[in-house]
Amino acid sequence: MMHIVVCMKVTPKSEQVKLDPNTKTIIREGVENEINPADKNALEAALQLKDKHGCKVTVIGMGPPMWEPYMKLAVTMGADDAILISDRAFAGADTLATSRTLAAAIKKLGEYDLILCGEESSDAGTGHVPPSIAEFLNIPQITFVNNIEIIEGKIRAKRVLEGGYEVLECAPPVLLSVEYGCNTPRFPDFRRKRWVDKEFKLKIWSIGELQLSNEEVGLKGSRSIVEELREMKLGERARQKISGTEDEIVEQILNIIRPYIKK
Ligand SMILES: Cc1cc2nc3c(=O)[nH]c(=O)nc-3n(C[C@H](O)[C@H](O)[C@H](O)COP(=O)(O)OP(=O)(O)OC[C@H]3O[C@@H](n4cnc5c(N)ncnc54)[C@H](O)[C@@H]3O)c2cc1C
Repeated sequence: MMHIVVCMKVTPKSEQVKLDPNTKTIIREGVENEINPADKNALEAALQLKDKHGCKVTVIGMGPPMWEPYMKLAVTMGADDAILISDRAFAGADTLATSRTLAAAIKKLGEYDLILCGEESSDAGTGHVPPSIAEFLNIPQITFVNNIEIIEGKIRAKRVLEGGYEVLECAPPVLLSVEYGCNTPRFPDFRRKRWVDKEFKLKIWSIGELQLSNEEVGLKGSRSIVEELREMKLGERARQKISGTEDEIVEQILNIIRPYIKK
């Protein structure tokens, strides 16, 4: 049976993403969160392969304990297992430290055939993490995938390009990053919810469970720093209120557009 690992991040709802100008990080307190939208598509893709081929699906996320309900939600949707990698030592990780930690956790899982990630997150949104995990694990990667098939034990992926697509085939293990919106994520299964609430135990792994030192994770294991943070202000649009009778309004509009009309 194929083992699919889905990397899942929890992000603030996009309209609530705000930055702290002092710490230069995303404000994660007091905002509504959700499963990163592209990761929901990655999970749905994994569950569709499970429905068709009987694969095992494990969801893995590196984040604070408050992610627990979202990890469980993934199990309610149909994942078989979920692991939250959570430790104070992981705080302040950049994409390098995040990928190294996720790769170490995936290694600890043992056998895996397919790793699915979202193409990028809706908050930091670098798209660094999927290719970096593949590099740490020394396995091939196919990015921006919008369709996945398993054919005679091989993974066939449709990769979106500007103005077209390419179809690539690869023997497992392979990592794929999945395009946002490529499928419609299913609703949670309410019969599974009862089981998840009563019996399912989320595994929480700390740094002690991974083959990593304190120097390789979190802020200490990060190589990039945010030097400066600037808020981009959109320019004011030139607006003009037109009033008067219907004929006066028409005349005013004509006066505005007349210079642009070629004879
Ligand atoms: C310079 C810099 C400094 C930063 N400093 C901090 C900081 O101090 N504190 C802080 O909280 N954040 C910090 N961040 C943000 C942090 O690096 C990102 O949250 C994290 O590394 C993931 O990067 P991303 O969101 O760009 O992922 P992307 O590469 O855009 O994500 C692609 C996919 O990778 C997977 N993925 C990404 N992150 C996770 C995860 N945590 N668990 C499971 N799967 C995942 C998901 O499938 C996701 O769809 C910093 C980022 C940068 C660039």
